[in-house]
Amino acid sequence: MSRRSELAAGLAAVQERVAAAARSAGRDPDEITLTVVTKFFPASDVRLLADLGVRDVGENRHQEAMAKAAECADLELRWHYIGGLQSNKAAAVAGYADVVESVDRARLVPGLSRGAAERGRDLDCLVQVSLDPPEQREGRSGVHPDELLALAAAVADAEGLVLRGLMAVAPLGADPEQAFDDLARLAERLRADHPDAGVLSAGMSNDLEAAVARGATHVRIGRAVLGERP
Ligand SMILES: *Cc1c(COP(=O)(O)O)cnc(C)c1O
Repeated sequence: MSRRSELAAGLAAVQERVAAAARSAGRDPDEITLTVVTKFFPASDVRLLADLGVRDVGENRHQEAMAKAAECADLELRWHYIGGLQSNKAAAVAGYADVVESVDRARLVPGLSRGAAERGRDLDCLVQVSLDPPEQREGRSGVHPDELLALAAAVADAEGLVLRGLMAVAPLGADPEQAFDDLARLAERLRADHPDAGVLSAGMSNDLEAAVARGATHVRIGRAVLGERP
């Protein structure tokens, strides 16, 4: 099988899963955006995916993301930065990302804001919130839920940054449904302060159904489309 047909098959299977999950939740499948996570895979795969109709791609490592975005600059793609971010790299990420989904501390805000100004356009941002139980939070990304609203306010107030909503990853080894229930409540609370921050990015290859059932507007799928990472 050619790589193109492999990707086409993976993509079709994931689109069908998303549509089925949407239907069983009484939602319109068209309100859910599939972001294909291309990390570790070459720019040639991004190109094939774009040709197959993918518009949103996700990357989690700065050097790799920057190189791929440059190689694929002729394609009409939206680049989602979904990885851990160092504050000294934030401005550089704002130079190519269309959405930064992993804003998890206030220290990132000045760099992102400066990068958006240098690029001369506003940058969409999601605040990444931790769903991990306290004993697992060490070393994982995401702002503590108690600090979510303060961080969201800092993003919303920053020049050049547009607060679009929330991103989260289910806890390791736990039932994602409970975690996504908590996330849905946090998203609702966020919208009380920021009515336009309606994006909810949740759900990966293993748990997209649970996320769609609880209101995800964006799912981030890698392996189920591209195969196991090299
Ligand atoms: C890698 C990654 C994904 C995709 O995970 P899969 O299990 O390959 O679907 C989604 N979100 C984040 C934040 C990631 O780092």
